[in-house]
Amino acid sequence: MTTVAAYAAPAAKAPLERTTIERRAVREHDVLIDIHFAGICHSDIHQVREGWGEAIFPMVPGHEIAGVVSEVGPGVTKFAVGDRVGVGCMVDSCRECENCRAGREQYCTGGNVMTYNGVGKDGEVTYGGYSEKVVVDENFVVRIPDALSLDVAAPLLCAGITVYSPLRHWNAGPGKKVAVLGMGGLGHMAVKIAHAMGAEVTVLSQSLRKKDDGLRLGADHYYATSDPKTFEELRGSFDLIVSTVSAPLDFGAFLSLLRTDGALVNVGAPEEPISLNLFSLIGGRKTLAGSSIGGIRETQEMLDFCAEHNLGAEIELIAASEINEAYERVLASDVRYRFVIDASTI
Ligand SMILES: [Zn+2]
Ligand SMILES: [Zn+2]
Repeated sequence: MTTVAAYAAPAAKAPLERTTIERRAVREHDVLIDIHFAGICHSDIHQVREGWGEAIFPMVPGHEIAGVVSEVGPGVTKFAVGDRVGVGCMVDSCRECENCRAGREQYCTGGNVMTYNGVGKDGEVTYGGYSEKVVVDENFVVRIPDALSLDVAAPLLCAGITVYSPLRHWNAGPGKKVAVLGMGGLGHMAVKIAHAMGAEVTVLSQSLRKKDDGLRLGADHYYATSDPKTFEELRGSFDLIVSTVSAPLDFGAFLSLLRTDGALVNVGAPEEPISLNLFSLIGGRKTLAGSSIGGIRETQEMLDFCAEHNLGAEIELIAASEINEAYERVLASDVRYRFVIDASTI
């Protein structure tokens, strides 16, 4: 076991503070990673504040981890000391179910192990990336290509893969009109990735406040959803809408923006159930769908794609002592577009 410094929430809704945690000794297939950067995801805040139900405390959040391998177990074949690597939302899964065998570990029916606020197969609570080091099975570690700096790569491990997976699955590409709903941590990566895939990209945001950024990052069009004219003008326009927002939406209104056979895919979710008139799906054979992160193979594919197209996240680098302040700013949508913790300050 190794004692490492970390930032943890000692109890639900409590501010995060510096502490120490134990990392397990490196096992046969483990790699020890010196964490260089950890992104702050909105879901870290949900979990620290128990917005998604009962959680485990103390909690060390962080599932957008970028670092360098500093030790490998004797059975490790995929990584060597010095490799630049990342860890996302999962650190294990059953590895046997239909989904795991198909590389869709995020939909593991046997139960996958979350990077933090989870319990590993050994019964130990998992602690995330707001720390100096982490020990992870090599099968849940991905390689960060040299073309990506580790700081701008960190947010790709959750925000990047969460939007890449549905864009791929629903065939974003040349000739396809894709709308990105919400221009935040996930939305700004969706714009970059959909543009790089060759799709015609439209941002649908509450206001035009971030329009210049949206166009600079690759959007072809930018509309305010607060303007009713947007819904008249864009009626029947899109093959795919990726919704990154977690506020309640008028789904009927957004479904009216799809072409025949179009899909509205949710990667953000409101806490309350929605009500929907199903005629908004029946007319035009439309799909209302959801999508969760991506599998390990797909996460590697996403990193390789982002490296090839030079797509890092837009980040604000912070010291660990600024985490609590950063949380408040995330809640106020006052970040362009992802906070990343410099782990050397932990
Ligand atoms: Zn996340
Ligand atoms: Zn499984």
